[in-house]
Amino acid sequence: MSVALHRPRPEDPGAHPAPSDLVVVGAGAMGGWSAWFARAGGAGPDGRGGGGRSVTLLDAWGPGNPRASSGDETRIIRSSHGTDRLYARWSRRALELWKRHAEAWGVELFLPSGVLWLAHGATGWEADSAAALTELGVPHERLAPEEAARRWPQIRTDDLDHLLWEPEAGALRARDACLAVAAAVQRAGGRYAVASVRPGRSAGGRLLDVVDGEGRRWAGESFLFAAGPWLPRLFPELLGDAIRATRQEVLFFGPEAGDRRFHWGSLPAWCDVHDAIYGVGATDAWGMKIASDRYGPSFDPTDGERVVTREGIAEVRTYLAHRFPDLARAPLAGSRVCQYETTIDGHFLLARHPEWENVWLAGGGSGHGFKHGPRIGEHLVLRMDGAPEAEGEERFRIGPRTPGAAPRGGGDLPAAEPPTR
Ligand SMILES: Cc1cc2nc3c(=O)[nH]c(=O)nc-3n(C[C@H](O)[C@H](O)[C@H](O)COP(=O)(O)OP(=O)(O)OC[C@H]3O[C@@H](n4cnc5c(N)ncnc54)[C@H](O)[C@@H]3O)c2cc1C
Repeated sequence: MSVALHRPRPEDPGAHPAPSDLVVVGAGAMGGWSAWFARAGGAGPDGRGGGGRSVTLLDAWGPGNPRASSGDETRIIRSSHGTDRLYARWSRRALELWKRHAEAWGVELFLPSGVLWLAHGATGWEADSAAALTELGVPHERLAPEEAARRWPQIRTDDLDHLLWEPEAGALRARDACLAVAAAVQRAGGRYAVASVRPGRSAGGRLLDVVDGEGRRWAGESFLFAAGPWLPRLFPELLGDAIRATRQEVLFFGPEAGDRRFHWGSLPAWCDVHDAIYGVGATDAWGMKIASDRYGPSFDPTDGERVVTREGIAEVRTYLAHRFPDLARAPLAGSRVCQYETTIDGHFLLARHPEWENVWLAGGGSGHGFKHGPRIGEHLVLRMDGAPEAEGEERFRIGPRTPGAAPRGGGDLPAAEPPTR
């Protein structure tokens, strides 16, 4: 399969775009997968849900663009979620969907590196996660530091209580995945165009169209706004206080030429909840990824400058030198500034608009949303088809939330502190 098949080609809609059954605004992890299931079907345990809709997928800059939260090299996918069972189950289902679709499309999206949790104590997040994984039948192992050091001598483990090993977890090629999903939507007969839109006309409790910067109107029977950190701008009264974007730095350190010990094939993705830091082994293009999970300051996803700080690099280097001594002198080979779009409690926001019955909203990934992309798309399309809310899914509603209620806050680690607002 040629690479071009995994890149969508934006269409020229002309002055009057044709109406669609569903208009999806935002081609990140949440919007792209929703467009896929709405167009191609295959949702639900029997694979019969969704499908058959004419779909238009719109994005202001394109799938996985550098401003989007989904626009990075990699994202971790793991089932450990502390005491929470719903996200653990969703993640398992998402993994199945990621693998199945990547295989069908002939593209590598999942990197089966496994995920290693660095536990500083006998109880807490890792122990809770292990209990949940046992209950759900998800393979995992509790490793003594010596055993982990034997398997991965490039990681220093002598200061740890134990390590939780999730062998079936790993990482996803994030930006590539957004492009591949949008390309698949197009191949399945959906439309994709570059346009920055906002809600347009409405009547009788329904939205009729969205309008772009050139005044074009994109009409639809229903709409999904999956605009990530931009959702509060599109719906300031409804979501202005519900989602906050914070500035997060991601650093890539380059091993020596030919040293494969820090490549994802040799090094698991790893999470250190105690020190609020995590990383992913090098992909072919970049060095080993490492990022602090502490919430940064508020960030403007459109105009914010994406340049990392001296202090941010120094903080991460201190950890790097301790945990991966052989990378202590490794050069910074690349960097990114991304943003979390975090709800007050860290739970996603997946809900129908309270005033327009044909409008759905998806966002609030809160640093752990990417992996769930296919499960979120499946969930939303089944809900649009009339499926009831399942137990536990009330957490996704619009409305009052309790700060810190979710066991996950940002950057794929538990919330050290909820973002203040
Ligand atoms: C540093 C960092 C590390 C993370 N680590 C992980 C991880 O390891 N695992 C994990 O699962 N998750 C992780 N996350 C979280 C995850 O990346 C996000 O939750 C997820 O990507 C959000 O996807 P989204 O589709 O909601 O938003 P986005 O990816 O931001 O997509 C929104 C899209 O909407 C478009 N758009 C915005 N406004 C408009 C408009 N008016 N008209 C048209 N289009 C518009 C944008 O261009 C964008 O493409 C991390 C996030 C960050 C920042």
